[in-house]
Amino acid sequence: MMLNSELATAIMNSVDAGFDEQVALTAELVKFPSVRGAEHTAQDFVASALRERGLAVDRWRIDIDAIRHMPGFSPVHVEYDNAFNVVGSHRPRSAKGRSLILNGHIDVVPVGPLDMWTTPPFAPRIEDGWLYGRGGGDMKAGLAGCLAGIDALARLGYRPAADLHIQSVVEEECTGNGALACLERGYRADAALIPEPMWNQLIRAQVGVLWFQVRVRGVPVHVREARAGANAIEAAFPIIEALHGLEEAWNTRREHYPPYETVEHPINLNIGRIEGGDWPSSVPAWCVFDVRVAIYPGQEIAAAKREIEATIRDAARANRFLANNPPEIVYHGFEAEGYVLKDGEEAVALLGRAHRQVFGEALAEIATTGTTDARFFGLYAGIPALVYGPNADSIHGFDERVELESVRRCTQAMALFIAEWCGLEKV
Ligand code: ZN
Repeated sequence: MMLNSELATAIMNSVDAGFDEQVALTAELVKFPSVRGAEHTAQDFVASALRERGLAVDRWRIDIDAIRHMPGFSPVHVEYDNAFNVVGSHRPRSAKGRSLILNGHIDVVPVGPLDMWTTPPFAPRIEDGWLYGRGGGDMKAGLAGCLAGIDALARLGYRPAADLHIQSVVEEECTGNGALACLERGYRADAALIPEPMWNQLIRAQVGVLWFQVRVRGVPVHVREARAGANAIEAAFPIIEALHGLEEAWNTRREHYPPYETVEHPINLNIGRIEGGDWPSSVPAWCVFDVRVAIYPGQEIAAAKREIEATIRDAARANRFLANNPPEIVYHGFEAEGYVLKDGEEAVALLGRAHRQVFGEALAEIATTGTTDARFFGLYAGIPALVYGPNADSIHGFDERVELESVRRCTQAMALFIAEWCGLEKV
């Protein structure tokens, strides 16, 4: 349907009318320390918020065995005891419009050293129009925005005239297995919208991501005879350097992977964690480090792994001990392919129109150097997945924050998009 301008204005005003409530809901969500393995209480809260809005709530624990055979699955070496997904579904009296999935992740990344935060990460505060706190930007503001979008319609006496599923998933920051479990559960729609913090832009393309762990061995001896041993920690340095060499080699290939040919440094490799050794006066017998690296959309995961393994093997060969005791490589976490949103999707045109109505300018598109759950909908279910959301700073850093004015406007655009895509029926 085409919204008349009177109704469009009413919807935008209705978002404004509920905005204080929306900010309060966002702050409530930020208070939950929903890091890996501790998302369940935040999910309980989301489930009740969905239920309060009259949505049918589906809440289930992710069953690894049910999804492990599916394309897009990422291997994990942890338990899913507390890994619950929550979906709230609205089903209209008669479905006239196109169905929609609104998807957000509830999991947040660890906070790092607390003394680097101005105020505690899970005690949200508002200052100069920004809401501070871990997960505020990535992406509890977006998740709360999904609820605020349907609240804005409800305030006017409307609800979507199509099936609408609001998904609050876990595991986005490490595997994507939460979104995958929603596919396994049977959720489908004509489009998906994920309000990740994207500076009011649309993601046209996203990279894939691989996580792997490198386990280096050494020979432990007393440090007084250090030369008779093999230092596993120091042996890791050249391997890390070689991996950064591979990163640069992949970056030089970007011309083969549109739309990344014009992106400055699309492939980033990060040594995100390292551990090793037992004692200052013992030559360390072990060192373990975790790596995150991007791959291009269209770059095959198996081929990328072969290159990673060859790089590590070659670097190890230069080490007297490692030459015969090559490091072990363990894949755990992200095995994510890249995803490019197809040209000419009607949903993109509608979101573009909604965005222009609110912001007064064209919707900009980006090729991001990160990944999102959009890939599951787009690659494995044929559902065009739009990632579009507010302006945030320092996500995964300290003093993470999200700009409230941007949240307000993105929510207006989302509400307009829901109304146009799904159509409306009177409550
Ligand atoms: Zn995110």
